[in-house]
Amino acid sequence: MVKINDNYQKLQGSYLFSTIAKKVNAFSSAHPEKKIIRLGIGDVTRPLTPTIIKTLHASVDEMADEKTFRGYAPDLGYDFLRKAICDNDYRSRGCRIEEDEIFVSDGAKPDSGNIQEIFDADCKIAVCDPVYPVYVDSNVMAGRAGDYDEKTGRYTNVVYMECTAQNGFAPELPKEACDLIYLCFPNNPTGATLKKSELQQWVDYANKNGSVIIFDAAYEAYISDDCPHSIYECEGATQCAIELHSFSKNAGFTGLRLGYAVVPKELKRGGVSLNSLWARRHATKYNGAPYIVQRAGEAVYSEEGKKEIRGLIDYYMENAKYIVSGLEKAGYNVFGGTNSPYIWLATPDKMTSWEFFDHLLEKANVVGTPGVGFGACGEGYFRLTSFGSHENTREAVDRICNL
Ligand code: PLP
Repeated sequence: MVKINDNYQKLQGSYLFSTIAKKVNAFSSAHPEKKIIRLGIGDVTRPLTPTIIKTLHASVDEMADEKTFRGYAPDLGYDFLRKAICDNDYRSRGCRIEEDEIFVSDGAKPDSGNIQEIFDADCKIAVCDPVYPVYVDSNVMAGRAGDYDEKTGRYTNVVYMECTAQNGFAPELPKEACDLIYLCFPNNPTGATLKKSELQQWVDYANKNGSVIIFDAAYEAYISDDCPHSIYECEGATQCAIELHSFSKNAGFTGLRLGYAVVPKELKRGGVSLNSLWARRHATKYNGAPYIVQRAGEAVYSEEGKKEIRGLIDYYMENAKYIVSGLEKAGYNVFGGTNSPYIWLATPDKMTSWEFFDHLLEKANVVGTPGVGFGACGEGYFRLTSFGSHENTREAVDRICNL
């Protein structure tokens, strides 16, 4: 009889958001008259902008004509998009990244889950706590995380870098040597960012220890100060870092699906180019993002596209401002929300994350995300997102403040 991959048995319970959905469904069935406002899941709500829509329509029309029809996309992405990415996200920032170091994909979630495949089964991974769960779960599936310890809520073979209010939610360099280090800044869920000098320390650590940093830059468009948008702004990062990007949170492509990974040619381990390994893996298991979506991605970098995308981000950040100032006035201890669409708050009256979740759902009919769902260090915290409409966000904050 065929045997299953036993590592899957080590994955913990149901995924955070399905537990939330179950609780919300149970509440709304019992109280159908209540208007629930969801500031939980990190999905966007604003529609795609006019330039993107226009480009999608035009590229659909190309598919209807024999002369302009496109079949399989190139495995690693169309040249027009790779060039737009390189020019706008790297060359304009003084980062030395070339088109053939860009791998177009269907998003940062798949890339962050898949990238571990090119590393040895025994390599030691390090993640922040709290953490975007995909980094851990993909390594659990690969058998790299060890066993789950019920007492600590952690896997035995993972190094958890604690991010707390004491260290400003910025991880400290691990004392033990780690091979694969996942960093995400601006951070989901805490909204924290790293200054260039702080990120440089990670690059130096990785180069000294032969580690590789997986830098998830899904939220870089939300940076409003001088924090680095890319890890390649740091000296030596092309020798130790892979960077992941998404078109989801800046341009609203959560439903269209588009992202990219940067694997520099200089990045080698054991004399082997990781760029070649990822190219091999990508070409074998992925058949390219759709032409019409890649054209829409290119339009994100047009002059009109950039203006419209700025408008989307400003819209969400206005919500973030309202949430932060409202909750602070009401006496909450609030973090994030300046360089990030996420607001991370300490629960009041020593409530656990889930107690506060139930409290908000029942008393204010507002849904957020319990911090403990992102790791043990998230206990006693709660995440709100600014991805709702202005109207709903204001109403939710006002309800919370009036509790
Ligand atoms: N990376 C982080 C840190 C995220 O929070 C998310 C989505 O919430 C993603 C990646 C997913 O990005 P994408 O929609 O491009 O798959």
